[in-house]
Amino acid sequence: MRHRTRKTALYAAVSIGAVVLLAVALYGLGHVGLQPPGARYDSRMASDIAAQPCWQNTLETSIPQTELYEVMARHMLDSQGQQARKLLFIGLDGALAPAAGVLAQQPGGAISELAAQGGLWLGYTGGANPGDQITRTAPSWTSMFTGYWADRHQVYDNGDTLSPEVRTILYQIQVRGGQASFSFSWKPHLTASYRHEAEEYPSVFHHCENDVDTLSSMLRAIAGGRDAVFGILEHADHAGHLVGYSTRIPGYMQAMDRAQADAGALIEAARERMALHGEDWLIIVASDHGGLGFDHRGTSLMESTIFFASNKAIF
Ligand SMILES: [Zn+2]
Repeated sequence: MRHRTRKTALYAAVSIGAVVLLAVALYGLGHVGLQPPGARYDSRMASDIAAQPCWQNTLETSIPQTELYEVMARHMLDSQGQQARKLLFIGLDGALAPAAGVLAQQPGGAISELAAQGGLWLGYTGGANPGDQITRTAPSWTSMFTGYWADRHQVYDNGDTLSPEVRTILYQIQVRGGQASFSFSWKPHLTASYRHEAEEYPSVFHHCENDVDTLSSMLRAIAGGRDAVFGILEHADHAGHLVGYSTRIPGYMQAMDRAQADAGALIEAARERMALHGEDWLIIVASDHGGLGFDHRGTSLMESTIFFASNKAIF
């Protein structure tokens, strides 16, 4: 009798244990989804970055993307002196920092030229603390354009609209009598994130068909004498969602090459104006977030690490 009870108890314990293990496994799989485990990719990315000589800082001292707002505001809003202040902001959606590090090693390319002239810095998205903000497109650009994280700007995810209490750098330039321009093919910039600002200043916002269209729209804005020319190119992000975010995936790096060629054409156009009109251009190339596997929304280094390149020593 006692023996049978002990056996039953043992069976019960084993089956409870099995159920608990199964639950833990399913919970884990649900969280990981089809993506590879982030930690392995994070440590490989960290060693890739450590081996790239182009960086002004390290992952330990990476800069919050909100600080880029201060850099742009200093140049455009507190301007003094005779020279006309101009701003060229080239956003590379979904461009991995280590991929910019690879491009920085190609002589004659836009990234290596900016790195030599001003610098190349590591930054981060995703909120003041990891997990505070989803590493997706709308919250990330909004943090750069406003200087705040989502707890203030209220763009918690794609599809949310900017808080009426907060204004973007584009709006700040426009309201002070400057002429800003923002070209992009990702429509939610117009229909969601900056909807209120677009209603007030429709001439600032240029919704484009694709990256080719975005590039020509930005070139027209530079040639047309706009004070601040913003644009976001989707090459890298489209490739990331399609073939995966990795410096080891040729399709992803080919998209980075196309993004760099476009940036080069834009920088060249700004340099021509510097030479012709003696304008003082601040040029920035930056990414909004990275990616892991085929997506980005989590707290891994792969997803949260970004970069800033500039023709000036901005940090
Ligand atoms: Zn994005």
